[in-house]
This record gives sequence, structure tokens and C-alpha cells, in this order.
Amino acid sequence: MLDIQKIRADFPILSQKVNGKPLVYFDNGATSQKPQVVIDADAKYYQEINANIHRGVHTLSQLATDAYEISRGKVQEHINAKFAHEVLFTSGTTHGINLVTNGFASILKPGDEVIVSSLEHHSNIVPWQMLCEKTGATLKVIPMNEEGELIMEAYDALLSEKTKVVTVNHISNALGIINPIKYMIDKAHAVGAAVLIDGAQAVPHLKPDVQALDCDFYAFSGHKMCGPTGTGILYGKEEWLNKLPPYQGGGEMIKEVTFEKTTYADLPHKFEAGTPNIAGGIVLGTAIDYLNEIGFDNIQKQEEELLAHATKRLLEIEGLKIYGTGKNKASVVSFNIDGIHPYDIGSIIDKLGIAVRTGHHCAQPIMNFFCIPGTIRASFSFYNTKEEINLMVEAVKTAKTMLS
Ligand SMILES: *Cc1c(COP(=O)(O)O)cnc(C)c1O
Repeated sequence: MLDIQKIRADFPILSQKVNGKPLVYFDNGATSQKPQVVIDADAKYYQEINANIHRGVHTLSQLATDAYEISRGKVQEHINAKFAHEVLFTSGTTHGINLVTNGFASILKPGDEVIVSSLEHHSNIVPWQMLCEKTGATLKVIPMNEEGELIMEAYDALLSEKTKVVTVNHISNALGIINPIKYMIDKAHAVGAAVLIDGAQAVPHLKPDVQALDCDFYAFSGHKMCGPTGTGILYGKEEWLNKLPPYQGGGEMIKEVTFEKTTYADLPHKFEAGTPNIAGGIVLGTAIDYLNEIGFDNIQKQEEELLAHATKRLLEIEGLKIYGTGKNKASVVSFNIDGIHPYDIGSIIDKLGIAVRTGHHCAQPIMNFFCIPGTIRASFSFYNTKEEINLMVEAVKTAKTMLS
């Protein structure tokens, strides 16, 4: 078992008080906290090796370049990509998805179809809508059931030779539902469609194996997995990355520039125009090392216990309804109390030191499906405890009494 108190000591922010109360941080779905090794690695980069990468012959530039490429290798190993050049540094999931949709603008034709799921984050809906507007392709949506699960029979029925891309999240940020992505990838490939997986909510909880999944693209953010903000990864199969045009033009992504014709750099640099977030990319590698030291088996065991405990304790509250009741779930509980606006509960429990998210969680279509303005979302990390959950339950009870 994990020594949670020892792990909590790695995260300086967790010993803070907020509004005079010990901080209970249950907004991990929005961003995770950072361990001291990550904070230190950022300072160390600027103190010791700060220089621009892939450009200088001088020593610091080479040290920075090496550290950046070592980090790319760590990500490659972590997600089991076949080649390091299939791992692109981005500023986050949103950037990765837009890089792909921009590329498909030169591939899709009117009459082609793009399938998204009804469980998506806005950043995996809007770029595809923009792509369809630009190309005349049609957007199709996989419906969900009352448990918050995608309906696979409906998905199967949507697939045809017109389907060019399928995009779905690995784990839903609003409800915590884990989607059957392996099944969905295989089905999409059977009709010749490419598949993008939005892994933003998966990577804090599990280690994706992109070769076993056989997905064409897998996008995620560093900041939700103990890494720095403004970092992310887009994995793409080599053959797809070669096929797609560059996203941004500029330095770093070229082989040769003349005013007649510019040729592009090889992968991965073709998609990495300009000076990247060098410190962030290096420190993302530190965050991945940290998570692997704790171990994803241990992380999952701890989070499953937290999810079970929170679900049981919250359901003791009369009038409380949980959204996303499907069996296959990550450590996220989205709920409401009859007749009370989620924002009001969120505001009161914040005064008691409890940080949860309230609102539509960038997934308005899910809220429309349930006919609610939003939910209260508690999303747990391996560094959270059952005692903290008990504090939240008491705080929610207090808020309910005050508001009813
Ligand atoms: C957070 C999130 C995103 C967007 O990530 P950014 O880091 O804001 O780019 C996309 N999809 C899901 C499922 C998310 O949870």
C-alpha cells in the first residue's frame, strides 16, 4: 500500500490553509498539484542549462537540447510509441487536437463524415465543428444513455465508408466514465477511419499503450498529470504525421527556406515551429518519472478506494444524485442536490476549505442531456484521503442545511 502521508509531503501546496481551513483539493480533473521534484526541476533548468534548443553549437544549447530530447524519449517509453519522432510536444490537449483538425482540412471532402461522442470536452468538439465547416464534411454524434455511457449499437450504426475520423475521450472529464476505446478503434479501422483519442483525463490515472490500442492519435496535457501548465503531447502514427501538413510555419520546422519554395523538416520538428516550452517539456519528463515511481497500479488501487468511499458517503445525503453511474469509472464524482444550484454548494464548501469544480465542466452537451445547468464535480488524485472525503461530505451537508 501507498504511504499517503509521505506522498502528501511531496506536494507543498497540500499543507496550505484556504479560508482558514486545511485545503481539501478535489479539483484534480481541472489540474493536478505538483510535487516538489517537479517544482525543483523547473528552477534547476533555468538556473543551470537555460538556452535555446536545436540551434547552438555551444555547450548550454546542447545540454538543453539533450534534456529536451531525453524527455521526449521518456514520453515515448511511457506511452509505448514505436518511434520518438511520433511524440510531438504541444502546449496541451487543445493544441494537439487543433494540430490534427488543421491537418485534416486538406484531406476531408464534402460528404465525408466525422464522428464525435456526446461525452466530449468542448476542446474535442469545437475544432471538429470548425473542420467540418471548412471542408463541408458532416459531424455525427454518438449518443449516450442515462448512466453516461456511450451507446455502442448506435456507434456501430453510424460507421460507414463515409467515416473518415472518429474522435472520443478515453475518460470523460465531466462524469469520469471510461470509454471502450479499444473496441471503438477497431470498429473505426474496419471502415478505414482514423481515430483520435483525447487522453487528457486518462493519463493521470493510467499508462496508455498506444501500440496496443492502435490509435492513430493520442492527445494529452502535462498539467493534469503533475506536470507544468502549458505542456502536452500529441502522439501520432508516423504514417499520419507524414501525411498531414504542418500546423504552424516558422523557425525550427524547416529544412530549407527560399522565397520560391520551402521544404519542411523531418518529424517531429515539422510540427514544432518556433521556440517551444523547453523547461516545460523537460519537466514533464520529471513528472512522468515521479508517477512511475509511485506506480500506476498503486495509483489505481488508491483511487478506486477513494471513488467507492465517496460514492457511498455522498449517497447517504438525501436528495443527492450522482451523474455518470456506469460501471467503468475513474475517480470522479459528479453530483447535484435536489433543488439547489451547484454553484451555491460550491461557494459554501469553498469557505470550508474544499476545492471542487462547479458548472458545465466544458461539456455543455452532457449537461443539456441531463437537463441541468451543471454539477458539482469532485475529482480525486492518489494523494487524496478518505478523511478528506469525509470533510467534503460534512461540508456538503452543512451547505444543504443552509440552502434549504
Ligand atoms: C482538460 C481537458 C481537455 C483540455 O485540456 P487543455 O489542457 O485545457 O488543453 C480536453 N479534453 C479533456 C477530456 C479534458 O479533461
